[in-house]
Amino acid sequence: MAKFDKALTQKSTIAGRGLFASENISAGAQIFSIARPFVAVLDTPRLTECCSNCFAGVATPFTSDGAYGAVALEVKACSQCKLLRFCSKV
Ligand SMILES: [Zn+2]
Repeated sequence: MAKFDKALTQKSTIAGRGLFASENISAGAQIFSIARPFVAVLDTPRLTECCSNCFAGVATPFTSDGAYGAVALEVKACSQCKLLRFCSKV
């Protein structure tokens, strides 16, 4: 469970369960962060050049582990949808 320093989860009668500020927050301040997103998708132009699981790219110097300076990454198309591509770490 994520811990929020400047926000809390509660229910609103208008919009249901949500994240609400627990103090005044300056514009641009980080409210919370998570190590890995719950849901994420690639922009359409990146679908052919990045892994849809770890987001490592064939044209970027990052590995699927997020390290810098790497060996070229190969991504292969999903055998079902033929749209998404994945590296060997899936
Ligand atoms: Zn990957």
